[in-house]
Amino acid sequence: MNLLTEKFYIDGKWVESDSGKTVTIINPANGQILANVHQASKEQIKQAIAAADKAFKETWGPMPAIQRSRIMHKIANLINENIEGLSAIETNNVGKPIIESRNVDIPGAADTFEFFANVSVDILGNTIPSPFGNAVMDYTIREPLGVIGAITPWNFPLLLAARKIATSIAAGNTIVIKPASLTPLSTLALGKIFDAAGLPAGVVNIVTASGRDIGEAFASSTTIHEVTFTGSTSTGTELMRQCASSRIPCTLELGGKSPAVICEDCDVEEAVAGTLFGVFINQGECCCGLTRLIVHQNVYDEFTSKFVSAAKKIRVGNPMDEKTQMGPVVDAGHLETVMEYIDSGKSQGATLACGGIRLAGDEFAKGFFVEPTVFTNVTPDMRIWREEIFGPVVTITKAKDNDELIELANDTDYGLAASIWTKNLKTAHWMSAKIEAGTVWFNLHNFLFPAAPYCGFKASGVGGELGKQSLIAMTKTKNVMINLMQDTFKWY
Ligand code: NAP
Repeated sequence: MNLLTEKFYIDGKWVESDSGKTVTIINPANGQILANVHQASKEQIKQAIAAADKAFKETWGPMPAIQRSRIMHKIANLINENIEGLSAIETNNVGKPIIESRNVDIPGAADTFEFFANVSVDILGNTIPSPFGNAVMDYTIREPLGVIGAITPWNFPLLLAARKIATSIAAGNTIVIKPASLTPLSTLALGKIFDAAGLPAGVVNIVTASGRDIGEAFASSTTIHEVTFTGSTSTGTELMRQCASSRIPCTLELGGKSPAVICEDCDVEEAVAGTLFGVFINQGECCCGLTRLIVHQNVYDEFTSKFVSAAKKIRVGNPMDEKTQMGPVVDAGHLETVMEYIDSGKSQGATLACGGIRLAGDEFAKGFFVEPTVFTNVTPDMRIWREEIFGPVVTITKAKDNDELIELANDTDYGLAASIWTKNLKTAHWMSAKIEAGTVWFNLHNFLFPAAPYCGFKASGVGGELGKQSLIAMTKTKNVMINLMQDTFKWY
């Protein structure tokens, strides 16, 4: 299947921009142009919302859940059948190593459609015991909302699009989704998969457009019933403010500054290996990725020296090479941001233990490669401790005891995820209760799967995604009461 397209997808048709506007998509590993993607005008965004509304009313909404589920299973199968093509698109566009696209992103997207295809036939209401005995029966049903407006970021484009599309359509809704302008290609490729799976026209509309235009269109639409956004805390907060004036509910998956709590009784080798994965997967461009390692003083020296020497060995290079472990950051602008944070760490007095430079030389000349970077002697007043860098940069800080480990872990505006590294189950259990984060891992980091709920606390989100419970936000409760009285009800 030819998965690459420069057009966007409305009402089952591949559409060009009516203004002729396109955005050039660059491979961050070598600066080569991958595509010139058409940009929808405000009028075309409205057409996408209208197409979703029509499909909700005429095809997808009325369709029995079992039929919807069958189509979603086909989508999952087709993603798996096209794993190589989709992986290449994702790696070329985002810069993530091909081994990650092939083993994490694309199968994860297929699993998401599979899981929600299964639960879509199991969206249950309740029977409510009535105070009138057999005379009145009361039950609830969960109905779809209508049209969902979705916006995704650039770091896990296909996986995050799959989450939003699968949860929306599993509940019987239709959707207009906008991928990030930097990395739209895999989400557009999904449209080809939907065509092949026989998804009715208008159920999913994939619109490449400016973030501002789409935000305004969603927030001012009388046809959008929920907005689901994944991206930065600042953009998400502004979007929620806009949506409030039209009373459109929002689910927000936002930024993070996740800590690892390294206890004195951890298995140091295991903690080093696990936290390296937590920090550097996807070049550190991972919302729940580890950014602050807080280490008990009794294992600080051993952990730090092993972590730094392992970080130095990570193979950075061409992400299409099977042996590459870390690719480039997503574009020149983001490279500049990451390098500014590295400079701020140095100027605010942190110790650069390794990395800290943009890689140069033939293989790296035209890409945006940063060496895996570790700072030690980092204190909470520093920007590299407080702000989301979203790159291959991590801080290590010493704590004197378990109380200080937790205090430092929670010393952030964010609350997306955290991990605790200890051999003692009791320590882990009691610490997890004190950690302010929506996901807490024990001796593990960055493992996610569709059945496990994923919710950000504090500035990391509103509501959540994944897990069967996520369908609650995608449906509304209708209460139905039936008169089964043997005699006619007469009040007067
Ligand atoms: P971003 O700048 O907030 O952009 C996210 C999306 O919002 C993009 O599609 C963007 O479109 C769009 N957008 C921009 N301005 C908008 C507006 N005024 N109204 C509506 N939408 C608008 O975030 P990013 O830089 O792409 O992604 C990185 C951020 O995402 C990090 O903070 C990361 O932690 C967060 N993230 C969170 C999760 C999670 O599950 N919690 C997962 C992944 C990433 P354009 O691309 O066209 O500007």
